[in-house]
Amino acid sequence: MSIIIGLFGLVIGSFLNVVIYRVPRGESIVSPGSHCTACGHALRAWELIPVLSFLIQKGKCRQCQAPISWRYPAVELLTGILFFLTSSLTFHSQIDSARLVLNLVFVGVLIALSFIDLDTFRLPDVLTLPLLGLGLLGAFLIPGNPTGWESLLSALGAGGLFLLIALIYPQGMGLGDVKLVAAMGAFLGFPAIFLSVFLGSFIGALAGIFLLITGQKRFRQQIPFGPYLALGAILSLLWGTQIFEWYWAWVR
Ligand SMILES: [Zn+2]
Repeated sequence: MSIIIGLFGLVIGSFLNVVIYRVPRGESIVSPGSHCTACGHALRAWELIPVLSFLIQKGKCRQCQAPISWRYPAVELLTGILFFLTSSLTFHSQIDSARLVLNLVFVGVLIALSFIDLDTFRLPDVLTLPLLGLGLLGAFLIPGNPTGWESLLSALGAGGLFLLIALIYPQGMGLGDVKLVAAMGAFLGFPAIFLSVFLGSFIGALAGIFLLITGQKRFRQQIPFGPYLALGAILSLLWGTQIFEWYWAWVR
């Protein structure tokens, strides 16, 4: 079952590529159909097969030979792998299947937001706000963790804290990050939201130091925070329980 959901993730990944490209440009995500961004060649069904079509076409448009970014198959593969992991770990802990669907949507939107933030330094409201709403609604309607009230309090707590930081230090954090972290709180509850923000900040700081040392970024140059928050959220969603168990065993 998880393998089927993983394969389904490849297809969703292909759709996320469209979202990542079109949402920041304010374009419709349904029409026109997928096409080469260089020559407008409309993609046929077999050219839409995730990952495989990229390999068969050797990373080039069949019509104009324009190179296709390796990021397209990478996003598809990433989505497939994360969908597989999300569902296998969900089945393992016997969570309600409606929760699984909710978590898959969460993971998918996090992937889209991460790449949009990398490209544009923005986390669009059209994605973060519905994600927040869905997280809250799901927690209230579907039995399991977090419960509705935990979800609401985590969203308010995490969002409120980030809003405070954004008001004090607007260069360091945008309102997009505030909305993203509130949505993460809604989906993850407490203490998972705390773990995900900690992991995201920690990995983000390490990555920032790495980029400075290797000269890929200069000091005070903007580094998007969204992808690291999203990474923290996914790690926390998939392995939060184990990470807390390791931590407590280590502290004792
Ligand atoms: Zn083309």
